[in-house]
Amino acid sequence: MWYIETMKVVEVIKYPNPLLTRPSLPVREIDPSINELIDTMIETMYASKGIGLAAPQIGRLLRVIVLDVPEDEEGEQGKNLMALINPEVVEGRGKVEIEEGCLSVPEVKVKVPRYEEVVVKGLDREGREIFVEGGGLLAVALQHEIDHLNGRLIVDYLSRIKKDIVRRKLKKLYGG
Ligand SMILES: [Zn+2]
Repeated sequence: MWYIETMKVVEVIKYPNPLLTRPSLPVREIDPSINELIDTMIETMYASKGIGLAAPQIGRLLRVIVLDVPEDEEGEQGKNLMALINPEVVEGRGKVEIEEGCLSVPEVKVKVPRYEEVVVKGLDREGREIFVEGGGLLAVALQHEIDHLNGRLIVDYLSRIKKDIVRRKLKKLYGG
């Protein structure tokens, strides 16, 4: 069937794969390969039941993120879908700390200190500069995904001992 061929779900790489700890490079030109990457990321995010995904999580060290943060439990898929190229936090207000999970760090939840509200600047897939302003879960998800682009994971907010336990456990499960 035609639509199956257009679906491009790939594997989400897991900690402690070293690709996840490297900084990603800015996108210089939004060519068809970038749009293809974004499509693959969106399909992979939905297939993994995630609310966000960063390019390094599928092994591409480029500054690209996708998000679809629902407003509530019954939030419709695709309603808040966004792709951001070269995103950066330009403004942050307030403080919040919630338990975060990550598709690359399965079965682990970590309380991470974040801004409560952020303004993020980036480019959309047409190369237009856009500003995303958000609070709550959207603000946390934006900061989480941008962390990935800087090679930073939720385990980096744990103590060294706890991080080591997670690393050994996941290494056993997924290799790397
Ligand atoms: Zn993550």
